[in-house]
Amino acid sequence: MRHPRVDAIADEARAAIARAGSSAELEQLRVRYLGRQGALTLLLRSLGTLPEKERPLVGAAANEVKRELEALLELKLTQRREAERRQERARQRLDLTLPGRRPPLGSCHPLTRVQDEIIAIFVGLGFSVAEGPEIESDYFNFEALNIPKDHPARDMQDTFYLSEDTLLRTHTSPVQIRTMQSQRPPVRIICPGRVYRRDADITHSPMFHQVEGLAVDRQVSMADLKGTLELFAREMFGPRSRIRFRPSFFPFTEPSAEVDVLCFLCGGSGCRVCKDGWLEILGSGMVHPQVLGNVGYDPEEVTGWAFGMGIERIAMLKYGVDDIRLFFENDLRFLRQFA
Ligand SMILES: [Zn+2]
Repeated sequence: MRHPRVDAIADEARAAIARAGSSAELEQLRVRYLGRQGALTLLLRSLGTLPEKERPLVGAAANEVKRELEALLELKLTQRREAERRQERARQRLDLTLPGRRPPLGSCHPLTRVQDEIIAIFVGLGFSVAEGPEIESDYFNFEALNIPKDHPARDMQDTFYLSEDTLLRTHTSPVQIRTMQSQRPPVRIICPGRVYRRDADITHSPMFHQVEGLAVDRQVSMADLKGTLELFAREMFGPRSRIRFRPSFFPFTEPSAEVDVLCFLCGGSGCRVCKDGWLEILGSGMVHPQVLGNVGYDPEEVTGWAFGMGIERIAMLKYGVDDIRLFFENDLRFLRQFA
């Protein structure tokens, strides 16, 4: 059954279906020709306006074309959808030969590394780690350590005061007082932690780290101190390390000594860093009898020694860092060198 008006719509629709490149386009064509406002639907609906003898002819032809287009669209859609699924699967296929993306790994900060190393050496000697508050009272930071008010030694440590009586600790020594107050001898502790002083330049930071050691027992002597620190130096700076004691003054030790290690950069011949072949690494001495008395120990019965060192200073010497601020700027280019 043929009719020119129906043929025109059919030819146009067949051509459009043949050109359609996607299932979405085919859906649009279904609406355009077969939908409620579609060309063929409207034609069928307008049969009543045609001359009476033409109506059955056009109606039959239009219904025939409608069935043909429905079948054609159904077939094309099935083929098109299948092709699209294949493309999607191909697009999502994993290439197992591609190298993986490596997640960035962090590493220990150089100060943490040095601190851990120092702690490990003393823990190996039977010391235990003790910690205390960073906000301290004047008593624990100064008085108990034989540094009364107006003592000139207070000028050596420019202090951040929080009030008349509280301050940011200027050293980790208050931990020694707190520990001795709470336990009887023997005491063998190592105290790592942050300390604060009003000081800032390329070798001083307002916040820095110390490690202190304290040993109190019957018949503890300066010779024990020297032997312990010699062993520490060999572990920390190499088996050929040597140390020397220089007389010094600290209010909380008597006698007091500054300790130098033979320069491990030049081997003792003298270089830009050490000048005379020795590097100052810590302060130490025999605990002052007054300090032992302050915590309720009997200085006639027990003696003790103590030492303290700056972790930044050790790290600067060990790694050849000449500006302390590099440790606190968190520049990854700097930190990655220690990974
Ligand atoms: Zn040197």
